[in-house]
Amino acid sequence: MAAITNLTMKEYQVVLISMSGVRVYNKKLLNLGLTLPGFVDRSRVIASLPSLGLLTIASHTPENWEVVYIELDDYTESDIEKIINLRPDIIAFSSLTARINETYLLSNKFRKLGFTTIIGGLHVSALPEEGMEFADCLIQGEGEIIWEKLLRDFENKQLKPLYSSITNHNFAFHFNASKIPKYELLDISKYNRLTIQTTRGCPLHCSFCAASRTISSYKKKSIELIEKELNKIFELWNKPFIELADDNTFVDKVWSKDLLKLFSEYKMKWFTETDISVAYDDALLELLAKSNCAQILIGFETSNSEGLLGLDKANWKHKQFDNYLKAIEKIQSYGISVNGCFILGFDTDTKDTFKETEFFIKESH
Ligand code: SF4
Repeated sequence: MAAITNLTMKEYQVVLISMSGVRVYNKKLLNLGLTLPGFVDRSRVIASLPSLGLLTIASHTPENWEVVYIELDDYTESDIEKIINLRPDIIAFSSLTARINETYLLSNKFRKLGFTTIIGGLHVSALPEEGMEFADCLIQGEGEIIWEKLLRDFENKQLKPLYSSITNHNFAFHFNASKIPKYELLDISKYNRLTIQTTRGCPLHCSFCAASRTISSYKKKSIELIEKELNKIFELWNKPFIELADDNTFVDKVWSKDLLKLFSEYKMKWFTETDISVAYDDALLELLAKSNCAQILIGFETSNSEGLLGLDKANWKHKQFDNYLKAIEKIQSYGISVNGCFILGFDTDTKDTFKETEFFIKESH
């Protein structure tokens, strides 16, 4: 457990708890020997990233609140005792589906002890009715504007059970009003990569994907604001590997080129997620290479083109299928590795899909 606190005495205190990482709960799958080595490696990386959502919320916290940031991965009763001993006014969790059951248990435990608990993140944003059973208050969607209102309501004893930027457009957030995440709350020496967010959501709307549905519609930050965030990181940290917490970074190719020019000014390696269209833009690929992009993650989704039919409204992904191998080769030719993501279990998949996927991955390197 890592806990960092601002030691000045404030009127109120909030403990922000990050519940990241991945767990396999299904006993049948475990008994079958589920290992998913690549996935486990990726989940370790995710678990070792700080919660950018909570660091962002921390920067939107009013001055009269003290903020404590804690990551609970593998934890013991003594870690829980330490949180209890802080006697915070509010305990707020950020959690994904993979650890929501643990989050619900912990939230209930703290509530029984008389603490006010809040849960936010993708899972409760998708299923607020479920989450409301386990916390005093939920945040659905973007938290930046909600957070200050929620804390003021708490101060006035008017906390509501649900604050939603999805149903209440007054809480929808203008991305350029973002404050620089409070990276200074971290014990920064223990991280080997830090995250920034340059875009949020994705306009492609693939039917299975939470981007643009659960948190916000597609939006991008100004290059000036991204520069300030990078400068803040570089003031604090000397291991420059940046992971972009974006859904699909290079949707807007003009803006993307400005972003890559900015990245080239920093001595850093970096990673992001995007779609295959980067391979069609030579100038963008050149800038990607110049800016020391180490890897991009692309959702190819399947090696079976039928599975892509109807995935997005314009069938864009289906139309790209025949370009997949050439596009991957082209990106790799710029020295950038491609982390391909696939879904197994489309309605059109058969047992052969497993072998076909393996063949595609090997053929595309
Ligand atoms: S392209 Fe990627 S991020 Fe965008 S909607 Fe599809 S799966 Fe989600």
